[in-house]
Amino acid sequence: MILINTIKQAKKVLDSFRINNKTIGFVPTMGALHQGHIALIKTCKKTTDICICSIFINPTQFNNKTDFEKYPVTIEQDIDLLEAAGCDILFLPTVKEMYPANSPKWHYQLGYVEKILEGKYRPGHFQGVCQIVDKLLSIVMPHILFIGQKDYQQCMVIKKLVQIKQYDVHIEIVPTIRQKNGLALSSRNMRLTLAEKKNATNIHKTLLYVKQHLKPGNIKELKKSATLLLNTKGFKTDYVEIADAATLKPINKWDGKKPLVALIAAYLHEVRLIDNMLLTPGA
Ligand code: AMP
Repeated sequence: MILINTIKQAKKVLDSFRINNKTIGFVPTMGALHQGHIALIKTCKKTTDICICSIFINPTQFNNKTDFEKYPVTIEQDIDLLEAAGCDILFLPTVKEMYPANSPKWHYQLGYVEKILEGKYRPGHFQGVCQIVDKLLSIVMPHILFIGQKDYQQCMVIKKLVQIKQYDVHIEIVPTIRQKNGLALSSRNMRLTLAEKKNATNIHKTLLYVKQHLKPGNIKELKKSATLLLNTKGFKTDYVEIADAATLKPINKWDGKKPLVALIAAYLHEVRLIDNMLLTPGA
């Protein structure tokens, strides 16, 4: 695996592959890698000639200082995992490299999608995500960008960014990788105790509860009972939402046909966890 720290070198190496008509797949991450990230790398490896992964803990997307400071860093283990998965290039820039002094910070007209759910509870988060993804896409210029369904709303935001900036890139969304007990893999799980990890499976259980109890008609009560379920297990729930899977508009009366997604964000002590599940009619 080629390890690259500078934008200049990244462009040079990637250009050499492009000149030779190699397709480039890109997996942006913040490190502390787990098998969820590796699923993206493996999908990338199957689809494109060259797989490049980036590890960069992007300061501008953290609205909570503690969350940023406590974000796990396991770089040596990450490198081992990436090498074992066959990743070709690791781009590992510094904050100075990505945000040089006095560099302009763009504002993106993301509209409705950045105001709701994660956007409501983490103001400015998606602007930060767009700042870094925009920079990374302009450097890597991949043919295919691989992102995880685990961050459902982020997928929609990135699609919007690609549309606004007219990037010529295909987006592939990879399904969420879970532990056998249902807990979605997340770098933040590293901050949970063993008992908390066990308790955290209640997020997935609640999503299943929503899926099992979903019926056409008024679904407001279902959201309320799902929230209560989490709160009684010791979570501080930011939201349990059932939304239109295509637009993320909250749905309170369901026609029994429209594809829906259930989304949860909840704290276990100071660790904020998110998860989601598609609620396809008839599934
Ligand atoms: P992060 O390092 O948390 O910024 O995540 C980097 C990429 O990995 C994002 O596209 C995430 O959606 C994706 N990802 C994170 N957790 C999982 C998971 N459990 N399964 C699949 N993809 C994931």
